[in-house]
Amino acid sequence: MSTTLEHADILAWLREENPARLEELWQQADATRRLNVGDAVHLRGLVEVSNHCVRQCAYCGLRAGHDTLNRYRMEANEIIEAARQAVKFGYGTVVLQAGEDYGITTNWMAGVIRQIKVETPLAVTLSLGERPDKDLAAWRKAEADRYLLRFETSDRVLFNAIHPPLGHQPCDRVAMLRRLKQLGFETGSGVMVGIPGQTFDSLANDIALFRELDLDMIGIGPFIPHPATPLGVDHPVMNGRDLQAQVPNTELMVYKTVALTRLVCPEANIPATTALATINKQNGRELGLQRGANVFMPNLTPLKYRRLYEIYPAKACITETGDACNSCLGARIKMIGRRVGQGPGGRRQRAPRPATQPQPEEFCHV
Ligand code: SAM
Ligand code: SF4
Repeated sequence: MSTTLEHADILAWLREENPARLEELWQQADATRRLNVGDAVHLRGLVEVSNHCVRQCAYCGLRAGHDTLNRYRMEANEIIEAARQAVKFGYGTVVLQAGEDYGITTNWMAGVIRQIKVETPLAVTLSLGERPDKDLAAWRKAEADRYLLRFETSDRVLFNAIHPPLGHQPCDRVAMLRRLKQLGFETGSGVMVGIPGQTFDSLANDIALFRELDLDMIGIGPFIPHPATPLGVDHPVMNGRDLQAQVPNTELMVYKTVALTRLVCPEANIPATTALATINKQNGRELGLQRGANVFMPNLTPLKYRRLYEIYPAKACITETGDACNSCLGARIKMIGRRVGQGPGGRRQRAPRPATQPQPEEFCHV
């Protein structure tokens, strides 16, 4: 098996059901992970800063149309306090995530980023939706390090059906990812696995697109239906589609996608996502880490807001405090023989490997 997997190979693996063959895939992905990013599991403290959103994504519980959801926006001092907690727990990164909320103004967010950068050694990752270039440039100038924006699916027709544009402005997340790179952000993207209407063929294209975009971070989780959304009850986009071609939103499909992504993007940072932990609370995260992933994102959102950031129901870790999340994840990492990563844990600079290879963590971090 090689990292030069072509579309047909990826497709065949996505359809593979033989447990012995799949074991081979897990082992290759795990070996590739160890060789390229080492045994460290990097922890990124996740702060869900606002659940306001102007968008109407057909999959997400934060969509503007979900009008019975109580909305919140964290105060600047609450976000800074969460960042201090990240430092206390030894995390190297804080991830500030929200709905596409224009109540989060350009300057206000730039001020929050600056304060975190002045007060702490943390890398700052933003995940704030499709903001205009001037916002992205201002936040980069304020020294935000990374930006996450999943393209969700590379099937443009499906994407437009589940992610309607705002007004007449067409959405092009892939173009935005390229601009983020030009601005100097470490850039992350990803997909949901098992979106109604997603085919095996398009999921194979998603994995190829990860490679083409040369992403620094790739988040992959199952689609989990939310009853207050158009995709939560029935599946209108499925009409007329071939059921044989539909990707199931199962745990196994997520592992296959994670493992193949590790093979085609060996150096990327790949989290074992909260959505994966939600469909297998017992050991979904650990299996993700053993099948290609190398990052966890413990939740640092204050408890009073946590359950309101309901992108899908029964989300893992909505009642644990930051302290509880931290010790639980530390224990899970040790249990599978891995260790907690130190420092910001950015993507390693691509340096030619010398004949005797140092352990991956000895390389510099970007
Ligand atoms: N608003 C920003 C955006 O859309 O990029 C960031 C926050 S959004 C809640 C983060 C991610 O949640 C989305 O990119 C999407 O993949 C995921 N998500 C939303 N609804 C989901 C669902 N029902 N099941 C699984 N993941 C979901
Ligand atoms: Fe808003 Fe992001 Fe949810 Fe879409 S996925 S409704 S942009 S929070």
